[in-house]
Formats: sequence, C-alpha cells, structure tokens
Amino acid sequence: MNDLSCKLLVVGAGPGGYVCAIRAGQLGIDNVIVEADRFGGTCLNVGCIPSKALIHAADEFHRLTVFANHAPLGISASSPSVDFPRTIEWKDGIVARLNDGVAALLKKANVRTVHGTARFLDGKTVSVGTADGERRIRAENIVIATGSAPIELPLLPFGGNVISSTEALALAEVPLRLAVVGGGYIGLEIGTAFAKLGCAVTIIEAEPEILSQYDVELTRPIVERLAALGVDVMTGTKALGLSGKALEIESEAGGRRSITADKVLVSVGRRPRTKGVGLEELSLTMTGQFVRIDDRCQTSMRGVYAIGDITGEPMLAHRAMHQGEMVAEIIAGHNRSWDKACIPAICFTDPEIVTVGLSPDAARATVNEIATTHFPFQANGRAMTIDRKDGFIRVVARKDNGVLLGIQAVGAGVAELSAAFALSLEMGARLEDVAATIHAHPTLSEAFHEACLRTLGHSLHI
Ligand code: FAD
Repeated sequence: MNDLSCKLLVVGAGPGGYVCAIRAGQLGIDNVIVEADRFGGTCLNVGCIPSKALIHAADEFHRLTVFANHAPLGISASSPSVDFPRTIEWKDGIVARLNDGVAALLKKANVRTVHGTARFLDGKTVSVGTADGERRIRAENIVIATGSAPIELPLLPFGGNVISSTEALALAEVPLRLAVVGGGYIGLEIGTAFAKLGCAVTIIEAEPEILSQYDVELTRPIVERLAALGVDVMTGTKALGLSGKALEIESEAGGRRSITADKVLVSVGRRPRTKGVGLEELSLTMTGQFVRIDDRCQTSMRGVYAIGDITGEPMLAHRAMHQGEMVAEIIAGHNRSWDKACIPAICFTDPEIVTVGLSPDAARATVNEIATTHFPFQANGRAMTIDRKDGFIRVVARKDNGVLLGIQAVGAGVAELSAAFALSLEMGARLEDVAATIHAHPTLSEAFHEACLRTLGHSLHI
C-alpha cells in the first residue's frame, strides 16, 4: 500500500476543491487532491460549461431559422441545419481543454493529485481506491468538496429514456419530443436549448409557476419567450411515471393524461454527495442533508472543512470557488471568514435572469421601508439595437439612506451585468453612487443607471 501524508487533503476536484488546492499550493501548503472522475467536477464536465456551450449553439441555430423564416433585420438565410454530433464534439472539445487547464494549474501550484474514490476512515485519514490498489492518505486538515448529484424520482428512475442533465448534455441526436420534469433553471436552460434546436419540448412543473424562487414579474419574459418558441409549459402538474414512450401526468385539478416523449429529462434538483464517502465515520453535524459549516467553512470536527454544494444552497460554482479559496487561506493562517454581501445567481434562460442581494419582498421583511423601481429595456437604445426589448432592471434600496439591498434583471445578455451589480452591493453603493457613475452609451448597463435615477425620482429616459 502506498501511503501519503500531507498538511491538506482535498476530496473532490470540482470548482470548490480544485480552487482550494491551487490556492493552498500557491501559499506553500503541502497538499493532495483526490478526484474520482475528471478534474473540474460537475461544473466543468456536466454542468455550467457544457450547458452554456449547448445554449450558445442552439441560439446561433435559432437565429438562422428566424432569418430563414422572417428576415426581420433584412437578413435572410436558407435552410439552416444542425450536425448535432459535431455540436457535441465542439462542446466536448471545450470541456477537454478546460480539463487539461485545471490539471496544468494544479501541477503549476505543486499540488499532488490522486485519481480514485476516497472514503473517510476518520477525521484525519482517507482510503482511496485507485487503479493500482488502495492508498491511504493522512492529513492535518481535510476539505470535503464532493459536490452534488441529480435527484432521482422513485417513479421515474434514471435509465433508458429517462435522463438527467448529464445525459441530456451528451445526447447523440436532438430528440423529436422532450419532456422536462421540473421547471427550475437547469430544466429550463436545457429545455429551451433543445426547443431552439427544433425539438418539441414540454415542461412539467408541480408548482403553480416555473422558476418558483423568483417573483412573477421577473419570470414573465421567460414565460412569454417559451410560448413564442412553442414550448408547452404545464404548471401545477405532476409526472407520475412512464409507460413506453408515454409519460403519465396529473394536473392539480386531478385530470390525468399522458404525453409522448422520446426522452424525459428529470431535473428536480440536486442532492449533496454524502453517501458512500464514509462520512458516517465522522461525527459531523448536519443541516438536513447538508454538512453544517460555520462562517469559516469549518465543520463540527476540528481540522475538517466542507465547501461547495455539499454545504447547501445556493449550489453555485462561484460560491464553491470562493469558499475553496477562503479555506486555503485559513489553513495558511490568514484571518478570513465568509463576509460576502451577496452571491449573484444567474439563469441562462431566454432571456437571462440575474439576481443579486434581496428581492423587494425579502427586503421589506428586513428593513422598515424600501424604495424599488424598475427600468424597462423597451426604453434602452442598446436593447433596441440588438432587437431584444423584453425585460428590465430593478433596484431595491433602503428608503432612508438609498443603500442598495438588491438588484434583479431579466433580459437578453444581462448575465454580463452581474459583476456590476455584485460590485455595487459589495462596495455598499447607494442609489446616488450609481446615479453619479457615467455608464457607457449605448449599453444595457444604462438601464441600471436609469433604474437608480428613477428610484431617486428623476429618470432621464422614461
Ligand atoms: P462538484 O462540481 O460536484 O465536484 C465534486 C467533485 O468531487 C466531482 O468531480 C466528483 O467526482 C468528486 N467526488 C465526489 N465524491 C468523491 C470521492 N468519494 N472521492 C473522490 N472524488 C469524489 N453553477 C453555476 O454557478 N453557474 C451555472 O451556470 C451552473 N450551471 C449548471 C448547469 C447544470 C446542468 C448543472 C448540473 C449544474 C450547474 N451549476 C451551475 C452548478 C455547479 O455545477 C455546482 O454548483 C458546482 O459544480 C459545485 O461545485 P463543487 O466543487 O461543490 O462540486
């Protein structure tokens, strides 16, 4: 048996784990990272990156089909087609390049890598099943970064035509009919992409609304766009099971029927990967299914940290990365704790949604009085020039001093505004600060400027 010892052992090389290991290496901490699969975890291999690549390819194709049918900008195209295996090959090429990139960064930071499945024996020791047999690794500090996996519905277990997002992002061909069970962001992103690629898509959502964590004002442009794309959205409806190609569904009113689907994408959330890792050998305090952590990502066991999806919502790559970086610095002796004003969240739907900080309702529950207004893209020159006037930017501020509490946007391309929104909240900006900042013309960001001006009572362009 080939034993190793180190100051820091990171289990899982997703965005949380690999960032933690790289930062630890930069700080001179002797560290080992164990990964059962490919470097980059869910995000790089089967999540953020492949889904956004597919969305981009679908957008490009869809634009051509619009040009072929209507020539709206005076541009026409004839009979666009998709060679889907080549699209998937292109997407896989991006993933492979990023996999290699992560491996190179780990090497550059002098991180030792072990390929295999880790199992905790105690709070300092892990056994790793590798291709060459078992290896034991002893570490002064351990970071659990094992991430999450798709939730399986007992009535619709994965297999055959019932797929998770992982298989949906690696299909050999565009299905003729796709049923998406779950109207959250992952199901909608993938469902919209396939609809744009020519597939007949039905979304089945048990809640009364899709994207139910957002207010209806924010999701309305998405609902309208889905309708324009011909996507059938069935809210208040539950999937009951599959018989052959027929998916049985039941509406809230009790009506049962079946719909035909070549593939059924079950996208009803993700569960933390806590099983089969030997976590039961550690006496960790849990919050529900998630590992409980404090504001330093410290678990209930000294020297054992947890980061990323395994620690709960929001399950987002950038949260995992920031936690990873922070934990590496804590282990290096820096005085760090989690003091973020916000974690931006983006739905890469069509149009996109960005939320940062508090919604108007959440803000009302926190402070006495708020000021909130939105500025529509209908009145934004840049939105007109890209032929996308749907959506708006909304700001939420304290009424007494104008300090921004939250910013929400829905519109084509608003994902790229998330940095400006997050920075405003982290810097403690007030409405007046944004109002006094020159925003370049013509850009979508001017709608942020105008939303702040409008909240102050003197919008210029509406
Ligand atoms: P993971 O990325 O899940 O990585 C955990 C790693 O640990 C994996 O590589 C796994 O193989 C390894 N592992 C697990 N157990 C063991 C073990 N016992 N031994 C060794 N290795 C082990 N987030 C965003 O921020 N933006 C997006 O646009 C976005 N889009 C998404 C789209 C989809 C389709 C999906 C599924 C997710 C998306 N996410 C997105 C979420 C994002 O992927 C996760 O939040 C992020 O990957 C979590 O990082 P992590 O490091 O906690 O875990």
